[in-house]
Amino acid sequence: MLLARVAVPVPLGQVFTYSVPPELARDVTRGARVLCDFGRRRVLGVVLDVGDREPEVAVEKLKPIRALVGDEPVIPDELLSFLLELARYYVAPVGEVMRLALPAVERSALKALDAQGLLEKTKVRGVGGRLVQVAKLVDGAVAEKPLRGQAKEVHAHLSERGPTPIGDLEKTWGNARAAVKRLVDAGLAAVDQKESVSDRFFELEVERDAPPELTASQATAVERIQHALDSDAGGAFLLHGVTASGKTEVYLRAVEHCVVGGRGAVVLVPEIALTPQLVQRFRARLGDSIAVLHSGLTDRDRHRMWKRLRSGELHVAVGARSALFAPVKNLALLCVDEEHDHSFKQEEGVRYNARDMALLRAHRAKAVCVLGSATPSLESEALVRRGRIEKLELPVRARRATALPTVETIDLRRIGPGPTTERLLSLPLCRALEQTLGAKEQAILFLNRRGFAPSIVCEDCGEVQSCDSCSVALTYHRARERLVCHYCDFSAPMIRVCGECKSDAISQEGAGTERIETALAELFPEARIGRLDRDVAAGMKSEKILDKMRRHEIDILVGTQMVTKGHDLPQVTLVGVLNADAALSMPDFRASERTFHLLVQVAGRAGRGDSPGKVLIQTRTPEHAAITFASRHDVSGFIDRELDDRRELGYPPFSHLALIRFDSMDESTARIAAEKVSRVARKAADRGVEILGPAAAPLTRLRGRWRFRFMLRARDRRLLRKPLLAIARCEADRRVRVALDVDPVSML
Ligand code: ADP
Ligand code: ZN
Ligand code: ZN
Repeated sequence: MLLARVAVPVPLGQVFTYSVPPELARDVTRGARVLCDFGRRRVLGVVLDVGDREPEVAVEKLKPIRALVGDEPVIPDELLSFLLELARYYVAPVGEVMRLALPAVERSALKALDAQGLLEKTKVRGVGGRLVQVAKLVDGAVAEKPLRGQAKEVHAHLSERGPTPIGDLEKTWGNARAAVKRLVDAGLAAVDQKESVSDRFFELEVERDAPPELTASQATAVERIQHALDSDAGGAFLLHGVTASGKTEVYLRAVEHCVVGGRGAVVLVPEIALTPQLVQRFRARLGDSIAVLHSGLTDRDRHRMWKRLRSGELHVAVGARSALFAPVKNLALLCVDEEHDHSFKQEEGVRYNARDMALLRAHRAKAVCVLGSATPSLESEALVRRGRIEKLELPVRARRATALPTVETIDLRRIGPGPTTERLLSLPLCRALEQTLGAKEQAILFLNRRGFAPSIVCEDCGEVQSCDSCSVALTYHRARERLVCHYCDFSAPMIRVCGECKSDAISQEGAGTERIETALAELFPEARIGRLDRDVAAGMKSEKILDKMRRHEIDILVGTQMVTKGHDLPQVTLVGVLNADAALSMPDFRASERTFHLLVQVAGRAGRGDSPGKVLIQTRTPEHAAITFASRHDVSGFIDRELDDRRELGYPPFSHLALIRFDSMDESTARIAAEKVSRVARKAADRGVEILGPAAAPLTRLRGRWRFRFMLRARDRRLLRKPLLAIARCEADRRVRVALDVDPVSML
């Protein structure tokens, strides 16, 4: 009997067996998308394998696959086996993992299902694209008589630029349609129906760039990577290059090498909205053979990109973490830019880390993986030291004459505020800003807090305004005159009197970016002050602000982490870190590492052009290792020291962790579930696995839910598997959400 094992998107770990009806026998293959019954619903699943087998259950209990969706296997073999391995690694439900990689269903496929009456009881969504006509030349056809007029010009355009939508041709040649028809009649051209692409990243024409001559260390790195690409064995590299050392150029050469050889590549970047420049550089070098995958895409555009990658029409996928699942054909290379960045970790659903999984996908596909950073994560550095990946170094900035900026620390315990009363605008910082403005250069100020004041306190009774559903203080946002919770987005009007004691002595404590922006505007009335944080730069608006910065329509840019990302702004000569201690105080064993990364990255925005850069770090703990090493740009020194600490405390990369999270509307329900499951874990764990907790999470309440957790720790990763499986199989209390977080990044 022909049976198929199918991964269906339900939060149960198992794979389900269905029978394959004879009329579908030919088409139901590994990777195919199928419609099947599940309980009372009908769901889409992916076929993992098909075989002629004895059924394990009574034949009458087996359900048949209802229909094939689409006409070819959606998930290519390489991707499918990678997804299965990912599911195993994270002890995640296979069907949920498949969903990460599946495109939406095409409208034509939906219509076919509808015609068979199969769409009842399903929640399948579809996408459908507008078709456009694309003109292309017929290979090898020669004109019998000389072409004239627009037909001649269009012919020349097509032979130079390749297939072009007729709509685009019409922008230049009013009679393009007629001209194309003449070419078609003469047997010289053909017209294809294609789905149109309407992606904003492709709206602008990009000029092709001329590759610069590589620096010596770039050349060595490129050579090593290309050598690995040419071998069949693949390989993995950590590209450690100081800020502005030209890492992007190395990725470009590596990707180009793949594309020229007819192979594919994936490039992962932290946040695509913040790196439009990077995308443009890829387009300038590689033309339109790249797909840009980002959260601003409509389902339709995403689907189109997916199809064009799957068919091999596009060779390169550039995007944030989910681009890891791009169905690139002949995958030969995965690059992860800013590999230390925490946005590669997905913090809900299947909690995967795209950096780690890029290594895994490359390994399985015998492809090459390049992790790049100015501040490598300790995890990657440990892989280098264990001989698992090779380190390539770019020790100096790429453009001659641009040295790394000088760094000074300002001890906020000793040095008071400057001309304003803002403690975070110290006198030396104000002076430096004045100089920068005087020299007509630009400055970036980094503060890890948005809003006006991080807490609102009654001076008489001490009452702090806090969120009703989260255990955090509310932040005052002055432009909106509201108090806002930064965790659940709850907001309430700003108070005039204390709700407890009716006092009107309400103090606005601390400073956020909004307050600093206001203070700067008063201090430097002539200067153009800009702000970049989540309040002013939702979605793609950040790009506009960065563009203004690039055109020097902003003199001082104040912002949150968003300003620390890899922007290349040559006229920025001053960078100020307003409060380096904020990130250090997080209850997290990575707090020190995270602070160090932030400091080095934001410092790297200074002095990228012709004038030297200067960085001021304000802190109350100037002796902290994260600050002293960052101020000397001593990345290896910091890594050595931090690795020693981690080894002593038994934290990653010297152990492996899994965090088991529980949350519920009711406190005791969550606590009891955590206790119960932790007992199951203890029972299943062999020697060598430590179980820490359960205990309340540092952020005890979030969005009205009480949070508890416990942690598994082992030196040998394989030992975690048994207790994790036992946990995954635990009978769930419906009122509690349980999440398995393998290799957790956020400890909150
Ligand atoms: P990173 O990615 O390491 O921060 P970038 O790739 O953005 O560095 O390079 C920084 C600057 O140096 C960019 O303006 C880039 O065009 C330039 N650059 C890179 N490689 C070279 C080179 N070999 N010669 C001259 N300029 C280069
Ligand atoms: Zn009060
Ligand atoms: Zn809240």
